[in-house]
Amino acid sequence: MNESWDHTFDVVVAGTGVAALSAAVTAADAGLKVLMLESTDRWGGSSAMSGGGLWLPNNPLMRRAGAGDSREEALAYLEATVGDAGPATSLTRKEAFVDGVDGFMSLAERLGVRFARAADYPDYYPERPGGKIGRAVEVEPFDVKRIGTWWDTSRGQDGVPAPVKTDDFWLLSRAWSTPAGFTRGARVVFRVLGSLARGRNAVGMGAAVTASLLEVALRLGVTVWLSSPVTEILFEGGRVAGVRTTRGDESLTVKADRGVVLGGGGFDHNTEWREKYQGVDGAASSGSRGNVGSAIDVGQRAGGALDLMEDAWWGGSVPGVTKDAAAMFLVSERSMPHSMIVDAAGDRFANESESYVDLGHHMLEHFESAPGTCWMITDVRHARRYLRSYALDPKANKAMREAGIMVSAPTIADLAVRLGIDAARLSATVERFNGFARSGVDADFARGNSAYDRYYGDPGVRPNPNLGTLEKGPFTAVQVVLGDLGTKGGVLTDAAARVIRDDGTVIEGLYAAGNNSASVMGHTYPGPGSTLGPAAVFGYIAARHLAGKE
Ligand SMILES: Cc1cc2nc3c(=O)[nH]c(=O)nc-3n(C[C@H](O)[C@H](O)[C@H](O)COP(=O)(O)OP(=O)(O)OC[C@H]3O[C@@H](n4cnc5c(N)ncnc54)[C@H](O)[C@@H]3O)c2cc1C
Repeated sequence: MNESWDHTFDVVVAGTGVAALSAAVTAADAGLKVLMLESTDRWGGSSAMSGGGLWLPNNPLMRRAGAGDSREEALAYLEATVGDAGPATSLTRKEAFVDGVDGFMSLAERLGVRFARAADYPDYYPERPGGKIGRAVEVEPFDVKRIGTWWDTSRGQDGVPAPVKTDDFWLLSRAWSTPAGFTRGARVVFRVLGSLARGRNAVGMGAAVTASLLEVALRLGVTVWLSSPVTEILFEGGRVAGVRTTRGDESLTVKADRGVVLGGGGFDHNTEWREKYQGVDGAASSGSRGNVGSAIDVGQRAGGALDLMEDAWWGGSVPGVTKDAAAMFLVSERSMPHSMIVDAAGDRFANESESYVDLGHHMLEHFESAPGTCWMITDVRHARRYLRSYALDPKANKAMREAGIMVSAPTIADLAVRLGIDAARLSATVERFNGFARSGVDADFARGNSAYDRYYGDPGVRPNPNLGTLEKGPFTAVQVVLGDLGTKGGVLTDAAARVIRDDGTVIEGLYAAGNNSASVMGHTYPGPGSTLGPAAVFGYIAARHLAGKE
């Protein structure tokens, strides 16, 4: 060992989310000695708390199922949705992503990761050129007993602690209003009971993706240190040579003979940067608390250019009751019938069923002209028929009511008064909306026109599965603020996931993937799993490159 270094590895990876795990597993499989450094005392990041869906177009599972996709269609779709949002979204990066899908999935499958398709989940703009249904994959429920005590420190414990799949949610959200929903609900119950009967502790979604990748990493001899942030990139002779980290009170240098991969996530909870780049404070971000942008800062200090810092994986969220409580990101609830979202004046301003990133962008645009609180208003049938993640816990409901986040009233006019909205204006909005629900045509925002909207709809509601009248009280309003699943700007990388400087030159030996890097998805979210899919693939690409395999 070089005397000036405290430790020597071939590869150092910052973070322990999907980007980092993918890079670590790929490098270890290539025979390299890998160290993963996690800044917090819990591993897994937002990836472990997530729905675990990965958008991986033209993937091997689709081919095996004869589902029909191609490189050309995937690229056409990315052009039609992402387009040109700067160098992070260049054609070569889009090609690298699409071409890397096979490699990542084949490697992970060979090493024992069990993928499943979310075959009914549409792209978010399925009607655009190259759009499809069924490009997302997830990892089958995973028995966390296989990672021993590592489960105790997983952020997956903050997610759904049961073998529920991301592909279950669209049906579970209407488990007691449609036969298909009921059947899926029963299947999930049997899956949970089956896991318990076999003495397993199976989990699904993001917890399953991260735990199964960690299991592979540990099996391949990867070393993982918690509470050890990467604080600085160290250079020798103009090339990246290693990192500085801290363990306890000790400052350590770690040599990385082949390179360093930054997979330290976004700046979801860095209030200063959120204000500076985005004009929000990030309090309603659902991202992991450990994502404070420190690894982006490390990359920038090493010379990396930044891009897309103004953007995030936006969406509408129900705020936490206290400043520290997690916000509840809304996906299916706002899409189901008998609900609509209005601004502080009582006007609708967007298609409530559109993708979360689109809704977030529309909220941002609308706030410019009409600042104030938004409300999702539901009639009693929404409460009776659909799963509402924000309203499952009676204690939390009480706290939300006390905090004024949830408000109910017997009539729309009463509700308006309680919300401080002009009653006549809200009643007029509801009347117009009810007309759309009866005709099945939302003449204002085209809600229910896209197959994506209808995925989270109720097929039993006709003529439009996303539109149901608001006429049966009591009516409930729940506050909706701008939330997000994390940020999407970071260090700029090329098609090989190498960090690049403002002048376009490459920082030799420094790589980045996931939310640590500016996203190949630009300002949009083309399909389910559009953050985890590229995070996994660019983590894989980075490790292949530094291992000299590409
Ligand atoms: C509730 C929820 C549901 C979601 N569902 C989905 C979904 O189904 N599909 C999808 O595509 N996306 C989903 N997302 C978004 C997705 O989870 C994130 O975009 C993704 O996990 C980012 O992965 P990552 O590997 O870049 O970062 P993360 O998974 O956040 O991991 C980053 C890790 O790096 C650590 N770290 C930070 N700084 C440093 C440092 N300096 N040194 C070392 N370590 C550091 C952090 O503590 C963290 O553990 C969801 C997010 C949430 C919150």
